[in-house]
Amino acid sequence: MIDLRSDTVTTPDERMREAARTADVGDDVYGEDPTVNDLEERAAAAVGMDAALYVPSGTMGNQIAARVHTERGQELLADRKSHVVKYELGGLAQHAGLQLRTFETARGVPSPAQVDDEYVAADLHRPETGLLWLENTHNARGGLAIAPDRIAGAADAAHERGVPVHVDGARLFNAATALDVSATDLTEPVDSVMFCLSKGLGAPVGSILAGSEAFVERARRTRKLFGGGMRQAGLIAAPGLCALENVSELETDHEHARLLADGLADVEGVDIQAPETNIVLVDVAGAELESEAVLERLHERGVAASALDATTIRFCTHRDISRADLENAVDAVCTAFDTV
Ligand SMILES: *Cc1c(COP(=O)(O)O)cnc(C)c1O
Repeated sequence: MIDLRSDTVTTPDERMREAARTADVGDDVYGEDPTVNDLEERAAAAVGMDAALYVPSGTMGNQIAARVHTERGQELLADRKSHVVKYELGGLAQHAGLQLRTFETARGVPSPAQVDDEYVAADLHRPETGLLWLENTHNARGGLAIAPDRIAGAADAAHERGVPVHVDGARLFNAATALDVSATDLTEPVDSVMFCLSKGLGAPVGSILAGSEAFVERARRTRKLFGGGMRQAGLIAAPGLCALENVSELETDHEHARLLADGLADVEGVDIQAPETNIVLVDVAGAELESEAVLERLHERGVAASALDATTIRFCTHRDISRADLENAVDAVCTAFDTV
């Protein structure tokens, strides 16, 4: 099976397995795991933040960030297609006691004027805006790479109102790669960032939540509260250190996404969103098809993809997909569409 469902399916390579086998470990809840400490230090530097925390998943990193930045009963401002809105089980209500204010944005980022319009000041009747939430790359909008000036525009507008800003950067390094900027250019305007080691970077487990020293100190307590304090976590952090060195290889995944999109260009009736990173969205509504039926056909031909909604299919390239796999996938997908 050529698995293009997600970049989360990547498996650790030999180097990562060897790093895990030989990792120095200690009890990380006591702060005594040298490998985790090393990872946190390097990860903080990679995103230009003072400190970082290793967390079991991107979802936990996001939920911790929301809780630490806000007070219960506040509002969180987010694009309506944000991962935290669509795919985190309504966790913001449960873990942080937040109300969401979601709205439609261009490319998944609010303009400064939208931040101003949606901002709510506290009074006797109204909650207060507690956090502006950004996402980069923007997953559900097709892996869009959001440029530094768009991030800064939204973040500056929020900061003017005294509102902190978090970036869900699950695929932050894909964005930096696509835009040919450094990850720190994308995080400089914001207060905290989460990124996943376990997606395109290829680590088996884990994400990073980074911000100021004070933010990370509170985040560390909240991670414990959520049951995410891990003991000899160096075993899984060691492959995470290898993952940080894989950033330069993301460009190959992006090239594969472009090849896939180009290869499907002649399929009739489907609308392909030009990929900016490693995600290709294919809208099959024009061919009067439904996602589930297409996925079934693809599966029969040895390709796995995922359904973003009833008529949109998502293909995601990653480091376990070779050029040959990709070419085979293009052939299989073309045949599947011809015969669905
Ligand atoms: C995958 C993803 C997450 C969550 O990461 P997990 O490690 O799967 O919990 C959060 N935000 C975005 C944009 C993602 O793509």
